[in-house]
Amino acid sequence: MRIFIAGLATETNTFSPIPTGWSGFKEQRVWFRNDGSRKPPVAGNVPLIAWRRLAEADGHEVVESLCTFAQPAGTTLRHVYEGLRDMLLDDLRRAGPTDVVLLFMHGAMVAHGYDDCEGDTLTHVREIVGPQAKIGIELDLHCHLTELMRSSADVIITYKEYPHIDMAERAAELYSLCTRAARGEVAPVTAYHDCRMISMWRTPQEPMRSFVERMQSLEGKDGILSISFGHGFPWGDVEEVGAKMVVIADGDMAKAEALAKRLGNEIWAMRDETSTRHDTIDEGIDLALPDQSAPLVLADVADNAGGGAPSDNTAILRRLVDRGVKDAVIGCFWDPQAVDFCVEAGEGATFLLRIGGKCGPSSGDPVDLMVTVRRLDPDFTQTGLSGGRASFGPSAWVSADGIDIVLVSKRQQTFAPDAFTGLGISLVDKALVVVKSTQHFHAAFEPIAREIRYVAAPGAIPPDYANIPFSKRTRPYWPRVADPFAPTNILQEPAA
Ligand SMILES: [Zn+2]
Repeated sequence: MRIFIAGLATETNTFSPIPTGWSGFKEQRVWFRNDGSRKPPVAGNVPLIAWRRLAEADGHEVVESLCTFAQPAGTTLRHVYEGLRDMLLDDLRRAGPTDVVLLFMHGAMVAHGYDDCEGDTLTHVREIVGPQAKIGIELDLHCHLTELMRSSADVIITYKEYPHIDMAERAAELYSLCTRAARGEVAPVTAYHDCRMISMWRTPQEPMRSFVERMQSLEGKDGILSISFGHGFPWGDVEEVGAKMVVIADGDMAKAEALAKRLGNEIWAMRDETSTRHDTIDEGIDLALPDQSAPLVLADVADNAGGGAPSDNTAILRRLVDRGVKDAVIGCFWDPQAVDFCVEAGEGATFLLRIGGKCGPSSGDPVDLMVTVRRLDPDFTQTGLSGGRASFGPSAWVSADGIDIVLVSKRQQTFAPDAFTGLGISLVDKALVVVKSTQHFHAAFEPIAREIRYVAAPGAIPPDYANIPFSKRTRPYWPRVADPFAPTNILQEPAA
């Protein structure tokens, strides 16, 4: 069997002020052509590594194309998306007759002129390989599951875990299903159920933990091949934004549809229990102050670079300064200019530095502080999600009035305590640690945290799902309306 593998991924926050261009794809240490699966694991190549290992063990021929992943940001430039897609398609044409195509894409990539980059790529892939070849796609669960994807791919599998710790497992399942389908052993048919919900679901916590286990317990029996819950990515202004259940059955569409609906109804029933409570900035700070036995960890979820935010919003820093909070740590601010000034001034220098607030209204106003440069690192890294190192580039630790601040040159959410301790900042004696992340920080910070809280500060990805200014989604959704399945709402839908 000839198996073609490729990765082309980014998550597009259409409300982000940062354009996604060539440097977005080439600067993240995930830029490979034909050999990404032979490199050490970074988030963007984990599925390809699994596919090559499995395919070669089974004696198949592997043809590999592009493998790239851009840090989430704003809409991708049209010529950049088309250039990347066409590289992949050129490689596919050159490969000759292909039995199986396995793609790793994000599922929420938007380019100028393309609201559904994954569906567009899949359509072109299908034109090249023909109706007999099997096409499988692995997606982040923060994806827009579109009809074009469903009709173009044979198998769609999303991660089940948020944080995303199961990329390799899902890749192995995709490989297995697609190769079995190519051998004629199974006939995958895919059903969606639109949950009509826009939210975020944290899978380590109940009741989501048990729901993930239940999805897995239903797979591989009674004609059900695969189940995915596409949580959706809330900050994409596209028609098909939102949560969907995906069930793949063996030749039986009615069975797939029935189970997708049943599981979708379970997600609906858990909507209040699975909603995250968000504190205001002052509520979060108040919780940190009385007890200093271990730090309170506050997540600045609205300024998470992993969701396309600039990571330079100053709202929480401003409040810490104005309230005179001491023993606080905050990071990581994406502010290459401030880092340059610190490098120029040198370690030990004290000077007036303008921090953050540089990318647009979602960044807030800059904060001017008399800082002391405590440590510089020309190539700073933190522990990444997949075990490798995630690069911050040139970075600085500065302190001002009892607040330690980390400034970095490469935009990246805060994954692990070494984003601070790696520069020499001690966390154990702090009252408060503020991280710019939504969920991926959680596992690594939990051991050092007295408590973890989520704060809804201003930013590019505010967790205010009812009020995201969508212009393209026409179907009602919760929490914008209390019951999006109510007949009155259905009547308001435009004819398809
Ligand atoms: Zn995700």
